[in-house]
Amino acid sequence: MRLDIKRLNLPFIITSTCPRCGVEVKVDLRIHPYLSYPLVGEPFRHTLDHMCGDEEDNEWPVTLRLVVELQAVADCTVAAKP
Ligand SMILES: [Zn+2]
Repeated sequence: MRLDIKRLNLPFIITSTCPRCGVEVKVDLRIHPYLSYPLVGEPFRHTLDHMCGDEEDNEWPVTLRLVVELQAVADCTVAAKP
C-alpha cells in the first residue's frame, strides 16, 4: 500500500556511511529529506546524499520499511485487512 502523502516527515534519524568517502551521515527525517508517497509494510529504496569534500555530491540508496499500526483504545476493535 502506498500512502498518498507527498511530503511525510517523521521523528526518525537515518544513519548510513557514505560509500565514497566513508563519512557517517545522519539524516533527520523530521526536517529533510522527507519520504514521498511512501510504501507501507514493504521495503522501499530511499536516496541519501553527501557532499564529499567541496564539490563532489554522492548519492546512494538505502532500504527502509515503514510500518503503520492502528490500535483500538476504547469502544471498538481493529483488525488489519490483508
Ligand atoms: Zn561522502
